[in-house]
Amino acid sequence: MSAPRTVLVINSGSSSLKCQLIEPDSGVSRADGTIERIGEDSGLAGMTVGDREVRRDGPPIPDHDAALRTAFALLEQAGAALDSVNLVAVGHRAVHGGRSFFEPTPVTDALIAKMRELAPLAPLHNPPAVLGMEVARRLLPDLPHIAVFDTAFFHHLPTPAATYAIDRELAERWHIRRYGFHGTSHRYVSEQAAEFLGVPLRELNQIVLHLGNGASAAAIAGGRPVDTSMGLTPLEGLVMGTRPGDVDAGIILYLARTAGMTVDEIDAMLNRHSGVYGLGGQVDFRELHKRIAAGDAAAKLAYDVYIHRLRKYIGAYLAVLGHADVIVFTAGVGENDPAVRRDALAGLDGLGIEVDDELNESPVRTARRISTADSPTTVLVVPTNEELAIARDCVAVLDAAS
Ligand code: AMP
Repeated sequence: MSAPRTVLVINSGSSSLKCQLIEPDSGVSRADGTIERIGEDSGLAGMTVGDREVRRDGPPIPDHDAALRTAFALLEQAGAALDSVNLVAVGHRAVHGGRSFFEPTPVTDALIAKMRELAPLAPLHNPPAVLGMEVARRLLPDLPHIAVFDTAFFHHLPTPAATYAIDRELAERWHIRRYGFHGTSHRYVSEQAAEFLGVPLRELNQIVLHLGNGASAAAIAGGRPVDTSMGLTPLEGLVMGTRPGDVDAGIILYLARTAGMTVDEIDAMLNRHSGVYGLGGQVDFRELHKRIAAGDAAAKLAYDVYIHRLRKYIGAYLAVLGHADVIVFTAGVGENDPAVRRDALAGLDGLGIEVDDELNESPVRTARRISTADSPTTVLVVPTNEELAIARDCVAVLDAAS
């Protein structure tokens, strides 16, 4: 019997590179590594294979090429050298596919050129993803490389949900529409929820709440997204770690005209200094709860604004869907913070949503139900796994081509 097919999944950020070796057929993750502080004076590099962790902290990692080479060296050191597994593809997490890419797509020179064109739409995400693709293609030239886009799942959003009510010609000319993000996670989690319940995906109306550092909600009817909270960029929608989500666009005009802020200053304010951090001085919800318990009013305000927005979107998506069979919490906060889940859904019994406090507090980390046995809407916690979804997309492309 041949060794199981393995995909190397790469998520390349501006100063970090994450990679996993995944067996898509079994869902097993063979190795998981993070290379951080690329381009800084000293690097951080770690790789976990089974219960073995190897690290190479300290030596500088000047660029993404060095980062990937370090990852390969650590894989070898930890006993999962690339030539010891049946590596069939490299999957690349790509954020913004614009209007061009909405299927897992083989990485070619043309794709890279197009992603460069799309860089202004995702300045924080697309350029480092392109770097990751370039170095990986150079180091592993004989393997197929496949890009999986965060926007892809939402490509067919119904037109009223995808359209901003602005000048149509201007929107057309500059490709302004609501693209949506975290699509790989929303798709994976909604499929997992259906599998967990043993109900066909096409029969379920779901609200998926991806609450991580970035956060987004999606309304999914029968497996097809009908609305999502992020838009042209990942700034819109829910309150996030450092991003405000929805704001009156007039604030931006006001800051430019009256406060004299430049576009770059406003960009930094919106992407890095807003959200839970901007209000409460903290992005990590574990710390936020500690500060609230200690009587910190700013932390309490940050939490209350976060929950208020989340409840607003849940209400909106109940109306968009007509009713929800399932509400799913996922990602760092959604999977781990029972207080957020409780407060997001508190007092909604009248809408058929009843959370069981004991189940909600359970330390179990696998997919689980947290609603009462008679709650008309089932509430689930489902761990997301974007890397596995990307690995599965890669082998689906290979299988379709063979
Ligand atoms: P993600 O972007 O999905 O990795 O989520 C990261 C965020 O998850 C962190 O910034 C924390 O706010 C949150 N988080 C992680 N673990 C916990 C936990 N045990 N309790 C509450 N929040 C958590």
